[in-house]
Amino acid sequence: MTTVPKFVIGNWKMQARHEYGLELARGVAQGLRDNPPPSHLHTILCPPFTQLAGVHSELDEIGLPNEQLALGAQDCYPAASGPFTGDISPQMIKALGASYVILGHSERRQNHGETDAVIRQKVKAATAAGVTPIVCIGEHLAERNEGRAASVLASQIEGSLTRGFRGIVAYEPVWAIGSGITPSHEELQRKLTLIRALLPMRLMTDDIRVPVLYGGSVTSVQAPSIMSIEAVDGVLVGSASLEAQSFLDIITAAAEATTPQLTS
Ligand code: PEP
Repeated sequence: MTTVPKFVIGNWKMQARHEYGLELARGVAQGLRDNPPPSHLHTILCPPFTQLAGVHSELDEIGLPNEQLALGAQDCYPAASGPFTGDISPQMIKALGASYVILGHSERRQNHGETDAVIRQKVKAATAAGVTPIVCIGEHLAERNEGRAASVLASQIEGSLTRGFRGIVAYEPVWAIGSGITPSHEELQRKLTLIRALLPMRLMTDDIRVPVLYGGSVTSVQAPSIMSIEAVDGVLVGSASLEAQSFLDIITAAAEATTPQLTS
């Protein structure tokens, strides 16, 4: 029997100026050092590429174990190296201390035309480099209102996860990101249960619990109710991760709402 790990991930997007990002990382690391959450709760900071090395050395200085506070990137190229101007490989982010990478965020799907097939290639490349993929999936508002959320999620899972996928999945309904709106407890429970039912076809097994997170307008106010849903293994946080205290409040709320669960 092992404890089910829970995750709180901060996605800074393109929003923290360099010095501020370092200060933010230091603030989060010091907060966790002074008030350590239970060992089943893992925190991951995902700064822009340009801050990975600096944030890594800030975290190093505070010296928390990687399971407690880890570093992630927000994207990577689907190859180890090559003539790809402006791109960053998973090996490169790993060399800067990142052990996770967010892939398929809706902003990349929308702004960079990333398809499920491209995301699957990135998942493959990250996994080969030893970087754990955090794959975002989620329906648009119109798809939800037309009753198509289930088929969108099914095709994103089928298309963007590799066979035998070993990583993290983040359910981020596009309509909840940055809108201040979160799905009801009932809707979230239904969607997460659906995602859990769809996953085994890509995992190629029923025996592995892939962490499934929720993301979209999470603050410390909603975190306890979201984390109390049995199918939710954590939260992916955008705006509220840009201030150390508000992010630490979410971590505290997540810790309080989750007692360690055991899985066989
Ligand atoms: C995100 O974009 O991953 C996200 C969860 O953003 P926010 O928390 O700001 O809605």
